[in-house]
Amino acid sequence: DDALVKAVHRIMTHADGTRRLRVRTNADTGADAARARRFGAEGIGLCRTEHMFLGDRRELVERLILAAGDQEREAALAALLPLQREDFIEIFREMDGLPVTVRLIDPPLHEFLPPLEQLAVNVAVAQERGEDVAKEEALLAAVRRMHEENPMLGLRGVRLGLVIPGLFAMQVRAIAEAAVQVTRDGGSACPEIMVPLVGAVQELETVRAEAEKIIAEVVGDSGVEVLIGTMIEVPRAALTAGQIAEAAQFFSFGTNDLTQMGWGFSRDDVEGAFFWRYLELGIFGISPFESIDREGVGRLVRIAAEEGRAARPGLKLGVCGEHGGDPDSVHFFDEVGLDYVSCSPFRVPVARLEAGRAAITTTGSDSR
Ligand code: PEP
Ligand code: MG
Repeated sequence: DDALVKAVHRIMTHADGTRRLRVRTNADTGADAARARRFGAEGIGLCRTEHMFLGDRRELVERLILAAGDQEREAALAALLPLQREDFIEIFREMDGLPVTVRLIDPPLHEFLPPLEQLAVNVAVAQERGEDVAKEEALLAAVRRMHEENPMLGLRGVRLGLVIPGLFAMQVRAIAEAAVQVTRDGGSACPEIMVPLVGAVQELETVRAEAEKIIAEVVGDSGVEVLIGTMIEVPRAALTAGQIAEAAQFFSFGTNDLTQMGWGFSRDDVEGAFFWRYLELGIFGISPFESIDREGVGRLVRIAAEEGRAARPGLKLGVCGEHGGDPDSVHFFDEVGLDYVSCSPFRVPVARLEAGRAAITTTGSDSR
């Protein structure tokens, strides 16, 4: 009812006036971005672009990954570029000049490859019928070559960008072109390009060198500024944050992967398998995927924040793992001195509220 709405509004306004942390959202579509803005999101902290490569576009992606030669790969990239440009135009328009962190594609590769067993069956059936199976066999061999037993620790994130020529370049171009287009149309766009799964500064430097060339060429004198930063989600990245900061304009902590790799717990299937026993034994009181493990994974975040800022004073720091919308974790991120948390649209109000409470709780302490 009306009184309740007013009371909530008053509380939120108070929290917004108090908090230090900004609150962004994780959104991959214009619709999600719009919803999050209604909840008060002050930007997008994570736009996961891998989702944009599914559906109708899957076939193009398969062609790209399994391309027999440069020509085939370049044709697939040329077809994807205008589609990606439209994706980003929609999101930039919706966010209207608020910062938008676009993460370069980070799929576990198996999600894009045709299933091996199915291909093998197809080849066998065609052979039986006496058909020419040269093409199918080549595809099967290519998929076999790329097959991984453990895709979450395999060819994903920046590794994919380094292995498939032109993939990241296509995305960077689409982002820059979209920002320029929105600006020319009288709006504004504030893109931040984020490289996933970086573990060594050299990975980031390689991607950045190529990206900067493309951005300079596309942006020209349009006034658009594009930042380039990285996720910190591999323990080695956290431990070499001082080096990585030299090549990054911002860090965003991917606490989902940092928890997975920090504990050595698979994100996909440990909860049902044995977490109940860990809870029973009190090894943790709540899943570390839900609420930040302050002593272990949190320590990695703290080290990276400190070393990153020592190397690059004022380095912008955020978090975009699930923990960004968890109340206790929000307090932790405030303590560590991050600039923002990013969470799913529906958790934005809670994050705003908790960020306000965190600021009151830690005011006067020297924990920052
Ligand atoms: C993360 O690892 O915390 C993250 C935000 O990336 P994703 O969940 O897409 O791996
Ligand atoms: Mg991740």
